[in-house]
Amino acid sequence: MHIGIIGTGIVGVTTAGWLQRDGHRVTFIDPKEAGEACSFGNAGSLSPSAVLPVAMPGMWKKVPKWLLDPDGPLVIRTHYLPTVLPWLMQFLRYANEKEVTRIATAMRGLLLPVFDAYLPLLQRAGATSLMRRDGCLYVYSSRQSAQRWSWGANLRRSLGVEMEELDSEALWEMEPDLRGLFGFGQFAPENGSTPDPSGLVKAIYRQAMEDGASHLRASVTGFRRKGGRIDAIETDGGPDLDVDGVVVAAGAWSGALARMLGTRVPLESQRGYHVTVRNPGVSLGRNVMAVEQNIMVNPMSMGLRLAGTVELAGLKAPPNYRRAESLLSVGKTMFPKLNGADYSAWMGHRPCMPDSMPVIGAAPGVENAWLGFGHGHVGMCGGATTGREIANLVAGRAPLVDLAPFRPDRFRFGRAA
Ligand SMILES: Cc1cc2nc3c(=O)[nH]c(=O)nc-3n(C[C@H](O)[C@H](O)[C@H](O)COP(=O)(O)OP(=O)(O)OC[C@H]3O[C@@H](n4cnc5c(N)ncnc54)[C@H](O)[C@@H]3O)c2cc1C
Repeated sequence: MHIGIIGTGIVGVTTAGWLQRDGHRVTFIDPKEAGEACSFGNAGSLSPSAVLPVAMPGMWKKVPKWLLDPDGPLVIRTHYLPTVLPWLMQFLRYANEKEVTRIATAMRGLLLPVFDAYLPLLQRAGATSLMRRDGCLYVYSSRQSAQRWSWGANLRRSLGVEMEELDSEALWEMEPDLRGLFGFGQFAPENGSTPDPSGLVKAIYRQAMEDGASHLRASVTGFRRKGGRIDAIETDGGPDLDVDGVVVAAGAWSGALARMLGTRVPLESQRGYHVTVRNPGVSLGRNVMAVEQNIMVNPMSMGLRLAGTVELAGLKAPPNYRRAESLLSVGKTMFPKLNGADYSAWMGHRPCMPDSMPVIGAAPGVENAWLGFGHGHVGMCGGATTGREIANLVAGRAPLVDLAPFRPDRFRFGRAA
């Protein structure tokens, strides 16, 4: 079949790679170059352990305080509050033990095959060095403070995540530059990361293009229907593109496209920031999650990247780089040696559903359209598996992952069904 893939982020390019393995012809439609939107500047964690949703039990109690703190982990721009309030109310409905356990169990199924789903694509692209399998450290100031997160850590363990406890000496032996603020760690050996998220997307994209894909540099504006099928994709870049099928993988911008296909989903952008520090004077051997600070630190090929924070301000408001700078200030308290003289700052739109689970499946009521978006904080972890599973759906093969929790129609009229 000739399949139009809307979006050249991690989900779009891995979907292309997997579809091509089945012999399909692929056309990307995206005005941007590959790996230049949210997949550009993320923290690069590839973690089968990243199963916990954003809305955790008891979170609702913290929201009022966060709203008043312009440098807090969650900021809502005042003008956007009325727009985002219904989404936020839905989001908080999942912040209880029963829902979190259900969500984490479903996410474990999606994230566990992360390396299996990337490997064939990266091998073909000659880019396996863009995937590191050297574990990840969750670090805390002390064992006592880690207790505050023990419910989530135990849930992870109950789902099979191995987490080795490290006292201060063992932690500093593994990562000498964590000496200082951090006195306790949990090492998750099954995790990994990429040293260059955008490079990883571009490598898979380049291989897809070499394998016969085309790229129409335009925005999708609509779909032409014939009976229950889509027979062409309308864009702002010339004549309609005739297709036999379409995959929506447009990240945080997918909501409007899904709606044009008849599926309403409550998709919201959780804007996140990074600073990437060149010549940081700090050396880490692997990805580190500073849990109390809510910042992920990853040694990348272009410098030390500190990434995190959530800002609700929609897709249109300009970035507030003060949030990136505050990542740098917190970074300096975490690593007293950090030389922050030379850094770049970035903001990206995480595509987020209220239940922190992506939408993966056939578009209801359309015979030849599939949806793959909404991966929130774990799109790099779940991207390749999503691509593999969409290829299975297109082929009519049984999925290798239980996709029922991710079904597109789990929300009716934009609300939880
Ligand atoms: C600060 C930060 C840190 C993060 N850290 C991690 C991490 O460590 N690990 C992890 O797994 N995830 C992480 N994430 C999340 C991850 O980056 C995202 O989930 C993922 O990149 C989303 O990929 P995507 O392919 O869905 O969307 P994107 O990469 O955003 O790509 C979407 C593409 O669709 C295109 N598009 C949009 N509308 C249209 C249209 N109408 N027509 C044509 N094209 C269109 C856009 O131009 C864009 O190129 C992080 C995110 C942030 C912000």
